[in-house]
Amino acid sequence: MTMIKKHLTKTLLATTLMLGFAAQAAVIKSMRFWQSPESTRVVFDLTSPVEHELTVLTNPDRIVVDIPESRVSVDLSQLDIKSDLVKRVRQSKPPKEGVLRLVLDLNKAAEPKSFALKPYQEYGDRLVIDLVDEKREVIKPPESATGAERDIVIAVDAGHGGEDPGAMGPSGTREKDIVLQLSKELVNAINRVNGLKAIMVREGDYYIPHRKRTDIARKHRADLFVSVHADGFKSPRARGASVWVLNLYGAKSEVARWMKLQEEKSELLGGVDSTVVLSEYDNSVRSVLLDLQMESSIAESFKVGREVHSAMKRVAPKMHKNYVEENSLLVLKNPDIPSILVESGFISNPGEERLLKTTAYRRKLAGAVKNGIVDYFKQHAPDGTKFATLYRKNIYHVKRGDNLINVAKRFNTSVSEIKKANKMTSDTVRIGQKLVIPRS
Ligand SMILES: [Zn+2]
Repeated sequence: MTMIKKHLTKTLLATTLMLGFAAQAAVIKSMRFWQSPESTRVVFDLTSPVEHELTVLTNPDRIVVDIPESRVSVDLSQLDIKSDLVKRVRQSKPPKEGVLRLVLDLNKAAEPKSFALKPYQEYGDRLVIDLVDEKREVIKPPESATGAERDIVIAVDAGHGGEDPGAMGPSGTREKDIVLQLSKELVNAINRVNGLKAIMVREGDYYIPHRKRTDIARKHRADLFVSVHADGFKSPRARGASVWVLNLYGAKSEVARWMKLQEEKSELLGGVDSTVVLSEYDNSVRSVLLDLQMESSIAESFKVGREVHSAMKRVAPKMHKNYVEENSLLVLKNPDIPSILVESGFISNPGEERLLKTTAYRRKLAGAVKNGIVDYFKQHAPDGTKFATLYRKNIYHVKRGDNLINVAKRFNTSVSEIKKANKMTSDTVRIGQKLVIPRS
């Protein structure tokens, strides 16, 4: 009796588990290959998200992909493999039951990097494996490769330069010189902040075309692009500093330009954290992606712009407008990097020219722009940055058995601090409630 019961239980258990597998099992419906000059991207199209494990083997070079609770429905011998690196894909003996083991046989050694992509447009869940040809030189993102928290990078672009002097002040001051000095002050101020790193786009008295300026920022994986200028106007009375972001008209035309560009070469769009590989999508999807990216870039530009504007207002004798202004300036057309343009004042106004010529005022103004940038990134620190660790609010989901006292204890804070951070009036919490945990 006992024996039978045991057996029955086992069978029932096994059946339940099997059903569990059946309900959750992911199916690899197709595999796609994208070849770039230095890498191959392998995309597994899935019916649901999967976990996976990669193992790199040599002699011969191959990559083993273990995916639990899944199976493959595509004929692996019929794959259209467009790759310099991948010779073939085959299924191999699983390490244990229920695990799908795929082997990518390679022509030469490659460094794999993998990540999951959520359903988007016509695509479902995907597992992406990027194979980077080790022989070819690839620009690696700074620091983040080691897993260490990175600095937020700000590209400071001093306008004009060389043959292009920019605006001219009544006493002969040239915009290109003033903005170069101001930019250096800004870079110094930013570099004194822990977690921020500023780079100069133009370092001396030479001209850089607008597109090249943003290319330099992109090469440094900048999180923010700040172009520094000083206004000129025919009337010496015009005065006031201002902050500009790209307007929607400029954005639309830039999306069209990028679309054309993407057809010629497969380029990456996005910074360290949000890389979108446009070549993976067809034209209609690309255009939507670009639109979205541009929209979010402009939205972020506005947020930085507002912080910088209000910080500058505290030190500038006058702001030209009481809000962030919009224009279709070429230098702001960056679908992947939030960008602002700071007009430090009217160099054509004798009073503002005099101010901008002094180190003290430039330092004050640079300090204000830096403060605005810091205020923005404290609220919007990208993932994986020191700033995120320093300033991002922790969100805790209340679980069964929690009360404010044990949550406070766990995060090394107090009940009153938690209540303050969450604007709570009572001490009761409910399961699933999101609590902002203040930094101690
Ligand atoms: Zn200018």
